[in-house]
Amino acid sequence: MNKEELLISYQRAYYFGTPVVTDLEYDRLYNEVEASNPNCVAVTKVGGDSTNSFEKVEHTVPMLSLDKVYTTEELLKFHTKIKYGVIGEPKIDGISIIIYYKEGILYKAVTRGNGLTGDDVTNNVLTIEDVPKILSRPIDIAVRGEIYLPKSELTRINKISEVKYANCRNLTAGVMRHKHASKVKGIGLSIFVYEGYYKDNPGTHEETLFELTKLNFKVNYFQCIHSETSLSAFINKFTQIRDSLDYDIDGLVFKANNINERDTLGFTSHHPKWALAYKFEAPQAVSVLESIDVQVGRTGRITPVARIKPTELAGSVISNITLHNQDYINMLGLAIGDTISISKHGDVIPAIDEVLENGGNTTFVMPTICPSCGMKTVKIGAHLFCTNKECDAQVVGNLMFFAGKNQMDIDGLGESTIQFIYDTFGNNAYGTVFDIYDFDYNKLIHRTGFGGRKVRNIQQGLIKSSVQPFSKLLASMGLEGLGHKNSKLITNHFNGVEEIQNATREDFMQIDGIGRLTAKTICDSIKYNTTWEHFLILLRTLDTNYDKSIKSTGGSFCITGTFEIKRKEIEERVDKLGGIVVSSVSKTTDYLICGKNSGSKQAKAEKLGIPILSLKELDNIVTQQET
Ligand SMILES: [Zn+2]
Repeated sequence: MNKEELLISYQRAYYFGTPVVTDLEYDRLYNEVEASNPNCVAVTKVGGDSTNSFEKVEHTVPMLSLDKVYTTEELLKFHTKIKYGVIGEPKIDGISIIIYYKEGILYKAVTRGNGLTGDDVTNNVLTIEDVPKILSRPIDIAVRGEIYLPKSELTRINKISEVKYANCRNLTAGVMRHKHASKVKGIGLSIFVYEGYYKDNPGTHEETLFELTKLNFKVNYFQCIHSETSLSAFINKFTQIRDSLDYDIDGLVFKANNINERDTLGFTSHHPKWALAYKFEAPQAVSVLESIDVQVGRTGRITPVARIKPTELAGSVISNITLHNQDYINMLGLAIGDTISISKHGDVIPAIDEVLENGGNTTFVMPTICPSCGMKTVKIGAHLFCTNKECDAQVVGNLMFFAGKNQMDIDGLGESTIQFIYDTFGNNAYGTVFDIYDFDYNKLIHRTGFGGRKVRNIQQGLIKSSVQPFSKLLASMGLEGLGHKNSKLITNHFNGVEEIQNATREDFMQIDGIGRLTAKTICDSIKYNTTWEHFLILLRTLDTNYDKSIKSTGGSFCITGTFEIKRKEIEERVDKLGGIVVSSVSKTTDYLICGKNSGSKQAKAEKLGIPILSLKELDNIVTQQET
């Protein structure tokens, strides 16, 4: 068995509910196979539950995943953004499914799969007693729900079967993979339905759920929540009764109740902004705090970073954790040498939860002078700042930001190269963003680590970057209030750079998506900042045109795979939506349009949680916009 086959066998074992290796081992092999062959089946199919024994079906309703939080504070922050109340419901730990009914009769059931296509498991779903086969009225509807195995059923099955199953979810996944529906019949799977897509959807999620109940669907307990008090009560209630429920829940889901409000809130590049999963616990590990480094960012903000004994946590090795500020350190009572517990919040950012054992030192105190330039630091809000604009760390930080992947994306000019040039040739030769384009990079030839090829690579990278659009150049300046989104918004709104420059706060507030505070920040950034002057000079130097065609409303779309129509036609459709086409998938990409034989881009989009659209889905959106 070669490595790819081995990986596929691990994947199968997992989806049949009997994982044979730890997640860490699996990830290691996965990364290895991905590096050597990014287009192989084992890699491009990751995250999905498809095997070849079931017919692939393209989803026609959204199968997005939810943003996750682990603390009540994060949840409350979400709750305050929702005006018209949320619906809270338990998050069932099962297998996500979508079931289609035509004129009230079940005709297809499809697993979530990779979010784009899933497996037709209709015959298996038909054996589940709690899934209605005929609805109370002849309606065309698609419903989303979770198929699960009751805990009591798991106990019963484990008593009579030779193989003991670890948990309900694993067994559910395994059972749903059975080729023969007859084998599914004897197992007491059940379902909770939580979303319905049909014509004339009512105005609230609550009404949809009542309608689903009336149609004969099994809908779980839910509650309308309008205050922080009832939100906390809801969490407490489920934390307490969780173990006594006959089904596994791994958290709670909160969704905006008002459908119009959902439309207004829309989506980020990863998930709907109107819904959130509150997970009961984050993965945890124990480590030791070895030291605390103090870093100065491009804005002058001074951030303490914990260097911890490298520790495995949820599949990756953690050695650095941000500590935010002095208040945070005090709250934890952190001292070098402490044994600490760490966890991953939201699956991405590791955090220190608490000190388990004190190492004998006193709590760490932030320095009163900037570790980069030696100037006295200033406390603004909870954070410490170096206000010296000539501070080396800030100057270099701004250069790095400008050249970075998400900004001008200058190939060959990575952080270490920028730091090297700055350190070697000094602030005068390499201190502003113009210097990036002015500097004679041939001076680098024969310096340690630099040859002709590397220098040519930088020079080509500069040429390539110089054609970046206006809004990208603007966002790369690092002006406060002018990130990618706002830069695109204002580019789309005004007619030229002079109009932007002369715009008042009120003018900026006219733009949908820019509020009063942001409008003031943008005004200040433009009117009282030498960086804006730098921007104007760069515009002329690089000969960048004010390009109003870069619209912001539709977001950025990457296209991959083969299609039955010409690529140009797809690009035209994106254009109709007011979107822009980008060549690679990154954190800032909003959608991936996927055709046949898509490879690493799809895997990357899945990894980053970027919504994946089929051509059909894209067309649906275009039609919706036109009507
Ligand atoms: Zn400084």
